Amino acid sequence: MFQELAERKGVVVKDGTEVVDVTKRGEGSILVKTASGEEFHGTKCIITVGAWTRKLVKSVAGMDLPVQPLHTLLCYWKARPGREHELTPEAGFPTFASYGDPHIYSTPSAEFQGLIKIAMHGGSPCDPDNRRYAAAGAADLVEPVARWIDAFMPDHVDTAERPFGKNVVVGAGFSGHGFKMAPAVGRILAEMAMDGEARTAADAGVELGDFRISKFVDNPKGNLKDF
Ligand SMILES: Cc1cc2nc3c(=O)[nH]c(=O)nc-3n(C[C@H](O)[C@H](O)[C@H](O)COP(=O)(O)OP(=O)(O)OC[C@H]3O[C@@H](n4cnc5c(N)ncnc54)[C@H](O)[C@@H]3O)c2cc1C
Repeated sequence: MFQELAERKGVVVKDGTEVVDVTKRGEGSILVKTASGEEFHGTKCIITVGAWTRKLVKSVAGMDLPVQPLHTLLCYWKARPGREHELTPEAGFPTFASYGDPHIYSTPSAEFQGLIKIAMHGGSPCDPDNRRYAAAGAADLVEPVARWIDAFMPDHVDTAERPFGKNVVVGAGFSGHGFKMAPAVGRILAEMAMDGEARTAADAGVELGDFRISKFVDNPKGNLKDF
């Protein structure tokens, strides 16, 4: 919306354009260079690069600003059946923060029906160009929120039923050996999707723990062993 309004006033938006250098080109002239080799010049330049501020300002001005990006997570939780409307702005549900430990913030249920944003403020320091998007730090940023919800809003929000919940099952990572195991893997995936658990394997005493997606939480190598 902001971009559209700006464009109507004559602004040119150059999306997907990485600025690599900002230099003085003489009195009253600034030269901006991009990774694709484009050059722009003008009398003024405003830099608003969010989490990349420290990197860009250091590379163009040599100044080390104390701007430290944090890896954080946005969490949406499922309203308990029948409570969906109570959590909306129309019903008067507020935006709120809980300044305790953990520091929690929330906005009313609006953008996704039946889901409410409740998340933990903060996270651990990260490099914005090398973030581990997967489950990095997920447990640290999600479990405290779940415990807070269970303590303060247990009747309104369900922390056991995570969006997706058990309704999406991922079978991947067969490392060149998947075809011969397709019948067994197929049965496991089908039972997980239909019954919520792989009963046949469990009854046969097969340990499936090593295959859980949660093995990547705080451990990008999962259960990879050195040989
Ligand atoms: C989890 C979370 C929840 C939030 N919730 C809310 C909320 O509910 N309400 C609210 O008001 N705010 C919220 N915020 C804050 C809000 O998103 C930020 O304050 C706002 O986006 C900051 O805008 P910005 O333009 O400074 O930086 P950004 O939005 O981060 O934009 C920086 C841009 O610079 C680009 N860039 C980086 N390096 C270069 C380069 N070299 N050349 C060109 N472009 C570059 C990036 O690609 C990016 O598009 C939230 C933030 C987070 C992380």
